[in-house]
Amino acid sequence: MKVQSSLMREVDHFINGAFVPAASGARLTRENPATGQPLRLIARGDSVDVAQAADAARRAFEVWGKTPASERSSILLAIAAGIDARLDELAQLECEDTGKPLSLARSLDIPRAAANFRFYATAILHESSESFLTERPARAINYVLRKPLGTVACISPWNLPLYLFTWKIAPALAAGNCVIAKPSELTPTTATVLCDIARNAGLPAGVLNVIHGLGAEAGQAIVDCPSVRAVTFTGGTATGRRLAARCGERLIPVSLELGGKNAAIVCADADLAVAVPEIARSAFLNQGEICLCSSRILVHRSRMKEFTERFIDATRSLRIGDPLAPESDLGALISKAHREKVMAAIERGVADGGVIATGGEIPRGLPPRVADGAFLQPTVLLGVPHTSACVQEETFGPVVTIHGFDAHRDAVTMTNGTRYGLAASVWTRDLSRAHRFAARIDAGTVWVNCWMMRDLRVPFGGVKDSGIGREGGNEALRFLSDVSNVCIHMGEAL
Ligand code: NAD
Repeated sequence: MKVQSSLMREVDHFINGAFVPAASGARLTRENPATGQPLRLIARGDSVDVAQAADAARRAFEVWGKTPASERSSILLAIAAGIDARLDELAQLECEDTGKPLSLARSLDIPRAAANFRFYATAILHESSESFLTERPARAINYVLRKPLGTVACISPWNLPLYLFTWKIAPALAAGNCVIAKPSELTPTTATVLCDIARNAGLPAGVLNVIHGLGAEAGQAIVDCPSVRAVTFTGGTATGRRLAARCGERLIPVSLELGGKNAAIVCADADLAVAVPEIARSAFLNQGEICLCSSRILVHRSRMKEFTERFIDATRSLRIGDPLAPESDLGALISKAHREKVMAAIERGVADGGVIATGGEIPRGLPPRVADGAFLQPTVLLGVPHTSACVQEETFGPVVTIHGFDAHRDAVTMTNGTRYGLAASVWTRDLSRAHRFAARIDAGTVWVNCWMMRDLRVPFGGVKDSGIGREGGNEALRFLSDVSNVCIHMGEAL
């Protein structure tokens, strides 16, 4: 039996319970973004591979779709335990694929992947359905029956690879569906180890299938696959728009978690001892490559000087370096091509009148092992007009702009003044003021005096160009199920 291990240099598809190369034999090469060295050869999937996965999923659904929730739950709990047991290996692979600090992969990415499985494994044991007693024109009881859809597609990005991959797969499997999934071509490895874990946990062959490759080839083929009944997607807004158009043509539901340009609003009464380190974390965690990262900081003018000085100090104190070193706060960006995009955004901000207060450069003096990596200093820009593309468009890197405001309504106007609406944070001691902000802000999530404090039960998603639909808690289970109303005539009253 071929088992993929942490030593793997080749990443294959997982179809019908077996690791297989692309039918075409084609492969992609991926380098380690921190070292610039070749890292893996990845199966380059296309519609032929997807058709095989679809056949396997269709056959597997005949059993998995009827498997009792308690049995599905046990298998998903065993997968969670398998992730925990392979924490070190998974964290190492995530660090190699992404360039993020190993310590972050160990403390955030991999534990959250296990938590995703545990959450949905137990959620399906506590489900209830609505019922309605009808009196006219006759006595009847109506009840809501939820059923799995069949085969669903899960497509995820590179920034939190296993974390976001499992955030889709766990509810899809829990709801009784079979899955054809595609991780990002930049970060495919932990998804493949997950397949090994799922197989060892007793997940039947064909229930989970993973196809690797490029979005325009493998991803498109999955969305076009006739037996796919729904698509859950996390990624960029431009890709999401294309997928939505295609799913619209096919009349299948699509859930889209897309980009963001999130504001942190610092009010005059904010406790800066809390706000400064937390907003710095919200701007630069995972090198700023989290859809929820704050990239615009709006500060009441009465605190502007104090906040800016303290924030720049906090930024300068962050250590950037070898992702394997325990002291590194920031690792490498996902690729040099992405670093160029981020640096172009900084240049745009400067061309539009901004000033770099700190950062903006490729760090020098890194250890030889990572001297050729895709690193970039955490960067703070001041004085960039809010209309600049640097402030309006998602940068997805370690870059923030700081802006002053006088009236709260100006802060609301600025917060809502981009095409995105994913998340925002408000920093104030006055909770009624925080509530008034939350009620007027266009964002799927508003944090008050905190950031990225996640409870898996709450609805999660964005408005405007940040997405359609909600994940989290029962929202994902509902999206990944069909609903039938059953009406039973009860006969005459006693
Ligand atoms: P991307 O849109 O380029 O790719 C995401 C996934 O879609 C990848 O697996 C890719 O291969 C696939 N894909 C690309 N084109 C496709 C197509 N035509 N058909 C089917 N699949 C296709 O995004 P990315 O660069 O990997 O990720 C970064 C983006 O993800 C950022 O914009 C970020 O904000 C967003 N993101 C959003 C959330 C959220 O929850 N809202 C979370 C994380 C990341």
